[in-house]
Amino acid sequence: MAALLVGLVGLFAWSANRRWHLMTLGPNDLKWDKIADRLRATYRFAFAQERMRRYWLAGVAHNFIFLGFVVLLLRSLILFGRGFDADSSLFFFHSGTWLGDIYALLKDIFVVLVILGALVFVYYRVVAKLPRMTLKIEGVIILGIILSMMIGDIVYDGAWLNIKAREAGTAVAFHGWEPVGSTAALVMQGMGDGALKFFAHAGFWIHVALVLIFLNILPYSKHFHIITAVPNVFLAKQEPVGRLAPIDDIEGRVEREETLGIKKIDQFSWKNVLDFYTCTECGRCSDHCPATNTGKKLSPKHFTVDLRNFLYQHDDALRTNKNGTNGDGENADASEAEHQKDLVDGVIDPEVLWACTSCRACEQECPVFITYVDKIVDMRRYLVQERGEFPNELQTAFRSIETSMNPWGFSPDERANWADGLDIPLISEKQDVEYLFWVGCAPSYDDRAKKTTRATAELMLQAGVDFAILGPEECCTGDPARRAGNEFLFQMLAEQNCETLNGYSVKKIITTCPHCFNTLLNEYGDFGGKFEVIHHTDLLAQLVRDGKLKPTKSVDKSVTYHDSCYLGRYNEIYDAPRDVLRAIPGIKLSEPAETRDRGMCCGAGGAQMFKEDEPGDARVNDVRTDQLLQTGANAITSACPFCMRMLTDGLGNKERTDVEQLDIAELLLESVGSNDQDNIPTN
Ligand code: SF4
Ligand code: SF4
Repeated sequence: MAALLVGLVGLFAWSANRRWHLMTLGPNDLKWDKIADRLRATYRFAFAQERMRRYWLAGVAHNFIFLGFVVLLLRSLILFGRGFDADSSLFFFHSGTWLGDIYALLKDIFVVLVILGALVFVYYRVVAKLPRMTLKIEGVIILGIILSMMIGDIVYDGAWLNIKAREAGTAVAFHGWEPVGSTAALVMQGMGDGALKFFAHAGFWIHVALVLIFLNILPYSKHFHIITAVPNVFLAKQEPVGRLAPIDDIEGRVEREETLGIKKIDQFSWKNVLDFYTCTECGRCSDHCPATNTGKKLSPKHFTVDLRNFLYQHDDALRTNKNGTNGDGENADASEAEHQKDLVDGVIDPEVLWACTSCRACEQECPVFITYVDKIVDMRRYLVQERGEFPNELQTAFRSIETSMNPWGFSPDERANWADGLDIPLISEKQDVEYLFWVGCAPSYDDRAKKTTRATAELMLQAGVDFAILGPEECCTGDPARRAGNEFLFQMLAEQNCETLNGYSVKKIITTCPHCFNTLLNEYGDFGGKFEVIHHTDLLAQLVRDGKLKPTKSVDKSVTYHDSCYLGRYNEIYDAPRDVLRAIPGIKLSEPAETRDRGMCCGAGGAQMFKEDEPGDARVNDVRTDQLLQTGANAITSACPFCMRMLTDGLGNKERTDVEQLDIAELLLESVGSNDQDNIPTN
C-alpha cells in the first residue's frame, strides 16, 4: 500500500504540476473578488448542478456519480488505511458507532447510485450513441473503471463481513446500516475461507488500485473536469456576462509592438486554459450553437477541444520554454517553432471565428461555465488589428464608422431626421431632462427600425416622459466594431461617447437597441461612463403598470415573440416585452419551442449584421424564422432593430407576406392609439 500510494500519488503530483505549469504560461486573470457570490455559484452550479436539470436523466445520473465520488472519497481513505491496518476505520467510522453506521449506510446507498449513474452513461455512449458526445473508447474505459471500483467495493464488503463473522463465531445477517454489504455477505456465506479471503483481497485491491489509476488518468483525459470543474465554476466571471474585457493601454501596446489579441497558444490566460482543461466534451454548447446548427465550420466544442489538443501536444516545448519564448510569443528564435505557430489557420480556421454571432447560447448551456465569446473576439482582435484580415464587407462598416460615426455611412447631420414632426428636444438645447433617449444607428437611419424609434418616442411623449436626444452628437456605440475585433475603433468611440454623455451629466439612458443597451450598461463603465440604462421594453412595461399608458384598443393578432440574445441571455430581460404584449387586449401570444434563454439567435450579433453568413447549409435568420413560423402566429414580434432586420429578411426569403414583423412598441402604440405611423421620413 505504501509503494502504491507513494508511486501513484507521486505520479499524479508530477502530472498535476505539469498541467499547472502549462496553465500559468499566459497572463494571470484569476479573480478572487465577490467570494460570497462565487461560493453561492459554486454551490448552485458545481454541487447542485443546476444547469444539468434540463437534461433530467443525464442530470440525475451525473448527480449520482458526482455526489457518490464526494461520499466515496472517505471510503477510499478508509481503505487506504486498511492497507496498513486491516481494522482501520479512520478513527471515527467504526461499525457500531453512530458516525460509522451513518457513513456505512450513506456509502452503500451511493455505491448503488453510482452504479446506476454509470449505467445510464454506458447506455448513452454504447446504445443511444448521442451525437453531441465525443464517443471515444476513453469514455467507456472510464465508466468501466467506475463500475469495477463499485463492484470491487461490494465484493470486498461481502467477503470481509463473512470473515469477521467467522472469526467471531457468528452468522452473517442482513444489516440495515449496511444494506448492500450485508446482502453481498449473505450471497457469499456459502463460500469457503480461502475463497472469501481471495474475494476480500481482490475487491480491496481492485478498489484502491483503480482509485489511484483513475487519479492518474484524469490530467490526460476529458475527465480532468472531475478536478477542475469546481474551481472553474468558482472562478467564473462575476461581472456582467455582456462585458468584454478591454485591451488595456492599447496605444502603448501598439507603440511597443505587442500583440493585440490572441495569436499564440501561450497567450491564453490562466482562466482560458482552465476552461480548456474543464471541457467534458458533452457537446451541449454545439447542440445549441446557431452556427453549428446551420452547417458552418464553427462548433464551440471542437473549438475548445482543438485548442486543448494543441496545448497538450506541445506541452513539453511550451513548459520548458524551448527556443526561448518570452511568453508573449514574440521571440524571433521561437517564431518558427511549431508550438509558437499562429493559431488562426494553424489550428483554428478563420471561418470558425467569423461564423460566431456572439449569441452566448453555448455559454448559457455549458454546465461548467466555459466561455467562448471572449476567446473568439480575442482571436478576431489579432486577425483584424495585426493581420488586417477580415471579411470584405466589414471593411465598409469600419470605414463608415470612422468617417460618419455609423456603419452605413449616412451623414451625422441626418441622424435626427427620424424625429421630424415630433417635438423632441436635443440635449444641447434642453439639458435638465430626466432621460437621454439613446437612439442608436439602425434606429436612426434604417427605414424599418425608424418606425420603432418613432413609436417609442411617441409613447414616451404620451406618457409624459421627460427626455431629449443627442442628435448629430450621437455616435455608434462601437458594439459591431468591438465584436468584430476592431478594439481600437471601439475604444475611440467609447471614449468619445462617454465624454459627450458625461459632458451633459447624463444619468439615465433609454434605448431601443439591445446592442447599444449592453454596451452602454456593461462596457462603458471601463471608459468613464456610469449611467442607469433602461431598455424601451422595460420602460414601456413600467409605464403600462403605472397607468401612464393605457392599451385599450383591441389588437386582434396572434403573435410570437423572438428573444434578442443581447436582451435575454446577455441581460436577462425576458419578461418585460411579454408583459407589454399581455397587457394589449386582443393579442394572443404563443411561444416558439426555442424560447427565452434557449431562444435561437437571429444571426445578426457579433457584427454578422454587416457581413454575409459564413458558408453553410442554411442562413441563421432563415432557420430562426422557420422556428417562429412554426407557432402559426400571424405576427412575429421582437425588441431589437437587428433582429427585426434579420427576421424581416427571413420572412421575405420565404415570401411570407401574410406574416408581419413588429416591434413591441409598435403594437403597444397601436393599442394606445396614434395616427403617426405613416408619417416616417426616409433618407
Ligand atoms: S456565441 Fe453563439 S454562435 Fe458563437 S460559438 Fe457560442 S453558440 Fe455559437
Ligand atoms: S464547452 Fe461546456 S457544453 Fe461544450 S462540450 Fe465542453 S463542457 Fe460541454
